[in-house]
Amino acid sequence: CGIVGYVGGQSALDVVLAGLKRLEYRGYDSAGVAVLADGGLAAAKKAGKLANLEKELADRPLPTGGTGIGHTRWATHGGPTDANAHPHLDNAGRVSVVHNGIIENFAALRAELAERGHGLASETDTEVVAHLLAESFSSCGDLAEAMRQVCRRLEGAFTLVAVHADAPDVVVGARRNSPLVVGVGEDEAFLASDVAAFIAHTREAIELGQDQVVEVRRDGVTVTDFEGAPAEVRPYHVDWDA
Ligand code: GLU
Repeated sequence: CGIVGYVGGQSALDVVLAGLKRLEYRGYDSAGVAVLADGGLAAAKKAGKLANLEKELADRPLPTGGTGIGHTRWATHGGPTDANAHPHLDNAGRVSVVHNGIIENFAALRAELAERGHGLASETDTEVVAHLLAESFSSCGDLAEAMRQVCRRLEGAFTLVAVHADAPDVVVGARRNSPLVVGVGEDEAFLASDVAAFIAHTREAIELGQDQVVEVRRDGVTVTDFEGAPAEVRPYHVDWDA
């Protein structure tokens, strides 16, 4: 339902939680976050309001890092439980993904992954993306390219944002029939389903086009189509008060 991603010099957890709060008005049934820190990936997710997630984070704090993602979920596939909340991880716990929308061909992809030995931890359509990204990343070593490879296999509507512990300074996103906006700050960048999530930090935005993949780093943004061809980027200034 709501998506936020961050890479920069601030605490990604703080930026992502504040962003999720700005998106609360959309309604949601669960929330979660993942941050990259100390060479690894740490995640927390809870059914219920953001306050539940914040209590979980107070009880079991995550390490501090500058790259992270977060999600508020409106369940479509799998009930509103902790296990079904996003982010979803691969079996090694190295890649983490959040998703808005519906992956229509998830059942076939789940079956295929199970056959290759993946253990699925949730009932969601989303989780297949984490496992597929892990496989693609281990063969190509590039998270944006892995996202392109995975998107070519997905049917349905999706905004996806992902991080990988082996690509600690990168957040990637993708969209088809569901919105995704980049916020370009000074030595920091944001990804969100709505500019409201990052408007407190920057008003320089890039709206992602249909069927595009974006890689954001502290110092730049690269946009391609699902085949890897460079895409035209249309920056704009957000001048309304969020
Ligand atoms: N289909 C996904 C799920 O049920 C994403 C729902 C959403 O857009 O929040 O987990």
